[in-house]
Amino acid sequence: MALITKAVKGTQDMLPEETGKQRFLENTLFDIAESFGFKEVRTPVFEHTELFQRGVGETTDVVQKEMYTFDDKGGRSITLRPEGTAGAVRAFLEHGMFNDALPKKLCYLLNCYRYEKPQAGRWREFQQFGVEMFGTASPAADAEVISLADQIINFLGIKEIELQINSIGCPECRKKYHEALKEYFEGRKGELCGTCLERLDKNPMRILDCKSPVCKEISASSPLIIDYLCDECREHFEAVKTYLDNMGILYTVNPRIVRGLDYYTRTVFEFVSTAIGSQGTVCGGGRYDGLVEELGGPKTPALGFGMGTGRLRMVMEEQGIDLPGDTDCDIYIAPMDLEASYRAMAIVSDLRSGGISAQTDVAGRSLKAQMKYADKIGARYTAVLGSNELAENSVKVKNMATGETTALSLEDFDEHFLRLTVNDAASNIGVDEGEIPNISDIFGF
Ligand code: ATP
Ligand code: MG
Repeated sequence: MALITKAVKGTQDMLPEETGKQRFLENTLFDIAESFGFKEVRTPVFEHTELFQRGVGETTDVVQKEMYTFDDKGGRSITLRPEGTAGAVRAFLEHGMFNDALPKKLCYLLNCYRYEKPQAGRWREFQQFGVEMFGTASPAADAEVISLADQIINFLGIKEIELQINSIGCPECRKKYHEALKEYFEGRKGELCGTCLERLDKNPMRILDCKSPVCKEISASSPLIIDYLCDECREHFEAVKTYLDNMGILYTVNPRIVRGLDYYTRTVFEFVSTAIGSQGTVCGGGRYDGLVEELGGPKTPALGFGMGTGRLRMVMEEQGIDLPGDTDCDIYIAPMDLEASYRAMAIVSDLRSGGISAQTDVAGRSLKAQMKYADKIGARYTAVLGSNELAENSVKVKNMATGETTALSLEDFDEHFLRLTVNDAASNIGVDEGEIPNISDIFGF
């Protein structure tokens, strides 16, 4: 029984107090991305396992340790997506988007699955907002993608967050670097973890991303890729920095960022918060010029980022930044008898078609019990409807915050009520009647 009443380890429910705020965040992310020209793409939750093996890289932690992989009833090896880029590239190729106007700018919001050790900011099911831009090798694109992440973070009011950038070069400059790394790690071979020992031959750069404390310490004094960049990669990196400087985006160069996935080339970046400790990377991304070709497509330079919305919300909570959630009930209409209930249901129906959140009794409760309920759900206004009100065709509406009551005609009640709420909101923030109030003042955001 215990299994049935508990969510699976590393997964979590999001309850109604949070979902409205989450939806606000999600809409904000898409709105900002849209202003940069990114359009949403939706891809399946699962893909052929091979896509991630090829796309994310055989030597990565994600592929080696973290994937949810199973055979379906047809004997196919299926994997729940651990990230969004591989699926986006697959869709880009499958639908021939390389024939569209380039650069093609895609964005998505998706749940990802990784079998990791659950802890604060690290879950087995988590949500990522991501963007991908296909078909441009220009450093302007790198700067634009970074600027998008930066605008999101600024819009949300997140502070104490650092943009760290690095260049991990191209396959050409990496050849020499791999040799230097191999030589360095060979010297300390005895201390490396088992996984990194294997990586030493196949992909020594992966050792730099190992989470084991010993490997981390050894990596701390390894040679730096930035010292091995070829002229073109160096120029590209300089140009990215100049674009960022011109946009006034602050960054630090962290020559130790290599990123967890194999497909990155040249620019890599992370937004790291100091507010939530070791799971502080809220956004990570970079360029992956070889990936589209690697997955069987035409040579297409590309880049993008993934942003963990769970970590974003954690940082915001830590910094006391609240988001507007769902509106509570605007008005609760309490009928005193069946006749009034028939009328109340018709009135709330009109109110709702006008976009007002209205409720009435659907549980056959006493007036006292109804008022208690209205209070619990945070109704902004209440009205009691009985035979007198029906006879007079008018009802007193009570503003629950001020206690003030106003008689409104039951005829076209929705319009009268709307006017009342607008006037109340305007006087609340000191705007004269008739003036257009500032939305953010009304909603406190
Ligand atoms: P980390 O180094 O923290 O493991 P990563 O390099 O594996 O991160 P990416 O694959 O780049 O992460 O994913 C992009 C973003 O997705 C991360 O910056 C983070 O915000 C979020 N993310 C990654 N893994 C998890 C997880 N298990 N739980 C919650 N968010 C995650
Ligand atoms: Mg990871």
